[in-house]
Amino acid sequence: MTDWKNFSPKTNCLQDKVIAVTGAGSGIGSMIAISLACHGATVILMGRNVEKLEQTYDDIESHNAPQPAIIPIDFETATQEEYQTIQQSIEDAFGRLDGLIHNAAQLGSRTSIANYPVEIWEKLMKVNVNAPFALTKYCLPLLQKSKTASIVFTSSSVGTKGRAYWGGYAASKGALENLMETLSDELTETSAIRVNSVNPGATRTDMRAQAYPAEDPATVKPATDLEPLFLYLMADESIGITGQKIAY
Ligand code: NDP
Repeated sequence: MTDWKNFSPKTNCLQDKVIAVTGAGSGIGSMIAISLACHGATVILMGRNVEKLEQTYDDIESHNAPQPAIIPIDFETATQEEYQTIQQSIEDAFGRLDGLIHNAAQLGSRTSIANYPVEIWEKLMKVNVNAPFALTKYCLPLLQKSKTASIVFTSSSVGTKGRAYWGGYAASKGALENLMETLSDELTETSAIRVNSVNPGATRTDMRAQAYPAEDPATVKPATDLEPLFLYLMADESIGITGQKIAY
């Protein structure tokens, strides 16, 4: 079990850490990136929309936090060469990676398997599963260079138990949970890298509004409530925690 609920992050708890966050231009990812930076981390902002990433960049700068970096990437179309280039550019700029938070995802269609569009299913697998796999694979040599590296896969309650009409999204999160367990198991004996998944629970973002259009957003918790959980998983206090599925 993890004790993130009792974690009181110090303002410098992530000082000197280099942490990459995917989907950092909006929603939970933007909140995570700003929070990590405000606790001392140099954050690599990854996502497909440069304007949104620049907004997060500007927010971080306005807090006088360490200067972040931006790496634009569209996970729907990313090639192996792009992942290799990302690995090289992080190596050149920072020489290592202390944290990797896989947050970017898409919801896809909310319909039955019988009616599920094949092209949407394939897109979800690319963005929600193939991208976290490929990015992890190419970042592993950089994470191995850190003494305290932490990988987080952002999952969902439907990742552990499928639910009607959540189709490709549920299947993609189930695959992500399994990837997390496999990777954690492989790394436990051979490296200091810890690997966990987070189910953030209902959180007020565009994706939540897309999934529950009739819901009053004011009744859903803001992304900032997730701060202590993500800070804990990136901070040294969570060293030794690996292979865990952590629900908010
Ligand atoms: P949002 O839709 O608000 O944000 C998703 C992020 O992923 C955006 O930054 C988006 O970029 C990025 N993204 C989507 N497609 C691509 C792509 N092809 N290439 C690069 N980036 C892409 O969702 P949330 O913030 O709500 O979700 C964050 C994570 O939390 C997800 O993994 C989600 O599954 C999970 N989650 C969320 C819950 C909630 O209630 N909000 C509940 C359970 C899990 P862009 O801005 O350009 O669209």
